[in-house]
Amino acid sequence: MTDGRADATGGTEADYYRPETVAAACRRLHEADGRARVVAGGQTLMPLVRQGLVDADAFVDVSAIPELSGVAVADDRTSIGATTTYAELARHDLSDRAAALGDACSVVADRQVRALGTVGGAVAHGDPTFDLLAPLCALAASVELADPDGRRRVPLGEFLVGHLRTDRRENELVTGVTFDRLDPERAGTAYERHAAVESGRATAGAAAVVTLADGAVERVRVACSAVADTPVRAHAVENDLVGGPATDAAVATASERAPEDIDPIDDEAGSAAYKRRLAATLVERSLLSAVRRAGGSP
Ligand SMILES: Cc1cc2nc3c(=O)[nH]c(=O)nc-3n(C[C@H](O)[C@H](O)[C@H](O)COP(=O)(O)OP(=O)(O)OC[C@H]3O[C@@H](n4cnc5c(N)ncnc54)[C@H](O)[C@@H]3O)c2cc1C
Repeated sequence: MTDGRADATGGTEADYYRPETVAAACRRLHEADGRARVVAGGQTLMPLVRQGLVDADAFVDVSAIPELSGVAVADDRTSIGATTTYAELARHDLSDRAAALGDACSVVADRQVRALGTVGGAVAHGDPTFDLLAPLCALAASVELADPDGRRRVPLGEFLVGHLRTDRRENELVTGVTFDRLDPERAGTAYERHAAVESGRATAGAAAVVTLADGAVERVRVACSAVADTPVRAHAVENDLVGGPATDAAVATASERAPEDIDPIDDEAGSAAYKRRLAATLVERSLLSAVRRAGGSP
């Protein structure tokens, strides 16, 4: 029994389901045996379907599943449901406390994409230019998944395995992302990006999460977007900074090492050489902002 028929495929009809529980959605995906597509905001999927680049016998719309929606902040962990939209996340208090998320949500495309596009859709599509992925990577987020056999949690860095490729199994649903709570007194986060055209995809982006102790960098994670097949950690920058002073000069010196961990390509957005330079600049800006938000001096 379907909830309707959709002809988004440009003439070829497909079954359309709008389940209200995770279990029912997983069952639909399982029954379709790889021929069903999950639809959340539809901002990426539907244009691909209309262009004939994605083919499906059925669509499982997850937007009516209450369990997948919203943000839950507990003492030690924060969880964001898969169907939480960019606009909802930007409005939530969490986007002040983990400001890199708010920074990212506010630069995604335009109001329509922010109103409809979801956290789960961004994670499941695995496009390294998507703005939310670098902040989630810097926050050491994990992806939560469900299928008819149960649930699992995978670190985002392991989930994103390549360009538009993830560790998600055919019948799995992304149910949300989760990450450890930051110390509000000592931690700061930020995301900076540059796009060749206003409201366009990022040419490069950088997210930083910094925890300070007595003016020194106790912990730091930096992740870059759009400069490799997946969002990548800037390990050389992190190693340079950790344990040292959180000063402008230290940040500037460490940021010069950003190109060591990235692998950009020449494309219409810019040359690989330009993106390496840009990434170093964006890493420096995101670090300075994160240190300031953590209560440090830069
Ligand atoms: C004009 C335009 C401009 C854009 N500009 C930007 C930008 O500047 N920055 C940026 O970051 N992004 C940008 N985007 C992309 C946007 O972020 C994504 O379209 C959005 O995040 C995807 O979310 P969605 O809910 O619309 O996913 P959908 O389009 O519904 O789905 C995307 C993919 O994920 C799968 N999927 C969705 N939800 C789940 C789930 N819960 N479990 C398993 N699989 C799932 C779908 O099957 C599909 O393969 C832009 C998009 C458009 C159309």
